[in-house]
Amino acid sequence: MKVVDRIKESKSTLFSIEILPPLKGKSIQSIFNIMDPLQDFKPAFINVTYHREEYVYKKREGGFLEKVSVRKRPGTVGICAAIMNRYKIDTVPHIICGGFTKEETESALIDLHFLGIDNVLVLRGDAVKNERSFIPEPGGNAYAMDLVKQVVNMNSGKYLHKEDVLDVTPTDLCIGVAGYPEKHFEAPNMTSDLRHLKAKIDAGAQYVVTQMFYDNQKYFEFVKKCRQIDINVPIIPGLKVLTAKSQTSILPKTFYLDIPQDLMEAIENCKTDADAKEVGIEWCTQQAKELIKSGAPVLHFYTMGSTEPVRRVASKVL
Ligand SMILES: Cc1cc2nc3c(=O)[nH]c(=O)nc-3n(C[C@H](O)[C@H](O)[C@H](O)COP(=O)(O)OP(=O)(O)OC[C@H]3O[C@@H](n4cnc5c(N)ncnc54)[C@H](O)[C@@H]3O)c2cc1C
Repeated sequence: MKVVDRIKESKSTLFSIEILPPLKGKSIQSIFNIMDPLQDFKPAFINVTYHREEYVYKKREGGFLEKVSVRKRPGTVGICAAIMNRYKIDTVPHIICGGFTKEETESALIDLHFLGIDNVLVLRGDAVKNERSFIPEPGGNAYAMDLVKQVVNMNSGKYLHKEDVLDVTPTDLCIGVAGYPEKHFEAPNMTSDLRHLKAKIDAGAQYVVTQMFYDNQKYFEFVKKCRQIDINVPIIPGLKVLTAKSQTSILPKTFYLDIPQDLMEAIENCKTDADAKEVGIEWCTQQAKELIKSGAPVLHFYTMGSTEPVRRVASKVL
């Protein structure tokens, strides 16, 4: 079922999670271990991230360095299929511009369509490590908006090189995109970032999932600004339970977000990570309660491999 239809038919705030494919070589059991304890909370859908290749230099005989492409977390589509098969829950694979030509993207989307997947979260992706800015693949999409347009085209039966395709069956994918309550780090200002978000919606995206945030006011202001410029689709808040002291510096560096001073002080007063996790769970629980009260369509939790804190929050608010 499409995420937007699920939201439309629900009378209360839904629950969903984002999971990462396991590291290359690991078993899918690690995904089931994440999923099993969360079944009590009836997730409406499961997002599965996509991780592009990284380049590393390997030392070869004679001291030569060889540039090797390594994909640390493959398997996004396989995991989506496995989850649908085992749990009968809708999945939302992430698809990105980076590393894909449009032809490769088209093949990936055809696979999703054939598997009966109804949703995609369309993203640009970040720069490859060691590159200073995002460089699109030659013949690929440069911005998420371009990828939205490609999916929209396929949804109306316009495949690439359409002169070679006869008796076309359109895909029917519901398209989500990313939004940033604290601004995307490359955008010169919020107004410019919001214009680009609106362009994604105008191109055919049907809902927004936000980057994680720890101050609900930032989400409420973001939603308000979106509505002011006629972005009228559901805006799903993204939440991540803070679980270790070190995350107060890692998360802002990685995701360009602020940690509110009250939360910062509470974490600084913690002696151990176990104490910090309790503070994180309580903070997230309060965030979740307020978001539900405000009528948020879904609470979308970034698990980052750790579900016990999400389960603890969910058990208090759902
Ligand atoms: C919910 C969520 C899930 C994510 N999942 C993944 C994942 O699975 N895999 C992954 O690799 N990354 C993921 N990311 C990270 C994401 O790929 C990065 O944040 C990336 O830097 C931007 O992606 P985007 O889709 O927001 O890009 P875009 O919407 O293309 O925007 C990127 C930047 O370009 C600007 N911009 C947009 N259009 C234009 C234009 N026409 N001209 C000039 N500037 C423009 C925007 O303002 C923004 O600053 C996720 C992020 C979120 C919030």
